Amino acid sequence: MSIKVLAVEDEEAISHLLNYNLTAEGFAVSIIDDGYEALMAAEDFQPDIILLDWMLPNVSGIEICRQLRAHTETRDIPIIMLTARAEEEDRLCGFDKGADDYVTKPFSMKELVARIHAVLRRVNSAAMENLVEFGDIGLDRDTMRVKRAGEAVTLGPTEFRLLEVLVKWPGRVYSREQLLDQVWGQGIYVEARTVDVHIGRLRKALNKGGLADPIRTVRASGYALDETYGG
Ligand code: CA
Repeated sequence: MSIKVLAVEDEEAISHLLNYNLTAEGFAVSIIDDGYEALMAAEDFQPDIILLDWMLPNVSGIEICRQLRAHTETRDIPIIMLTARAEEEDRLCGFDKGADDYVTKPFSMKELVARIHAVLRRVNSAAMENLVEFGDIGLDRDTMRVKRAGEAVTLGPTEFRLLEVLVKWPGRVYSREQLLDQVWGQGIYVEARTVDVHIGRLRKALNKGGLADPIRTVRASGYALDETYGG
């Protein structure tokens, strides 16, 4: 199956080059020139990676990046920013909004293709990581076993999945709706307070024996793993 690349680029000369060269490399390429369509295109096309022009006429690449990261369906898609600006400040700003890498125009296609492969390798190896550690909590995706401070923690499948989602991004606040989508699946009707019940069970199991609570309740928002806890 081909790797799917979505490029958001308004300069025709560049989008032609991207289309021609990336197709020749064996990628399945989709190109749009309007930033407003980026989110919908990403949801429809489900690309493996997005190339995002920084300077777009209606909405900036940075803003699109922020939107992509804010939606469950597009949040994990890696993004390479394409930009004519090379200032260090912009670079940092791009990473802050969630870009995975950065290519400065003019770039060679060879360089871009190498960057695409490098980003995909990095992202995939992180996703394949079977042992996840956070502070004194260890989570093994292969065996679905969890340990805390060296002791086995008994969790039901829903509690395991909740912890797996929270540990992916310590500090990030997940709303109940986001947790429902990621743990129970989209389109499945479960009441929001069910999340509270399972968080309660997860806490009880994790904090057995009076250990500090690594889960933060954010009033009116949801839950997060306390990023200070992991050290
Ligand atoms: Ca542009």
